[in-house]
Amino acid sequence: MTRALFIIDVQNDFTEGGALGVEGGAAVAAGVSALLERHPDAYDVVFASRDWHDGGNDNGGHFATDAAPDFVDTWPSHCVSGTAGAEYHPDLATDGIDVHVRKGQGVPAYSIFEGTTEQGETVSELLTARGVTAVDVVGIATDYCVRASALDAVEHGQHVRVLTDLVAGVAPDSSAAALAELAHAGVEITASEAAVGETGAQDAPEE
Ligand SMILES: [Zn+2]
Repeated sequence: MTRALFIIDVQNDFTEGGALGVEGGAAVAAGVSALLERHPDAYDVVFASRDWHDGGNDNGGHFATDAAPDFVDTWPSHCVSGTAGAEYHPDLATDGIDVHVRKGQGVPAYSIFEGTTEQGETVSELLTARGVTAVDVVGIATDYCVRASALDAVEHGQHVRVLTDLVAGVAPDSSAAALAELAHAGVEITASEAAVGETGAQDAPEE
């Protein structure tokens, strides 16, 4: 089984103190780094996405300009390309990332599948080219970009797991609803150590 990790939007603007800071975001950054340090061989390829919006416009209605943001379809300005808010959180160890994906240039983009690499490759193309059959998803936010990325991975034909201790959501209710929806779509909802222990060098009990 060729397994990929998706690290979704672990950026300064989505963590504590950012324009759209999510509680637990910084802990996700540190937790993902620790996971990769403990299990350097768990993943054949590591993708990371960044929301990467234009600064001079509302990005297709994604940024609230005339009214207050509703935090569902409209948001405060965030992750503008070239700003500190768009950078990866400093606690995320970026040396383990193989593929950097940017999304949302001038448009709303929730899923990593909506983005491309700097060379213009899509995530879908790269998964197929590398023979990936399984994807673990971590990052921010559970109820938006993690949700959308995991659903698109299922659509791509991947066996998908969301690692519950390495995601953070905008709101508790919508995060719980997202995980329930993902489970219904066939996504395995599991803790990271249980998941990676199974696929790593250690023997898993009963499997
Ligand atoms: Zn955005």
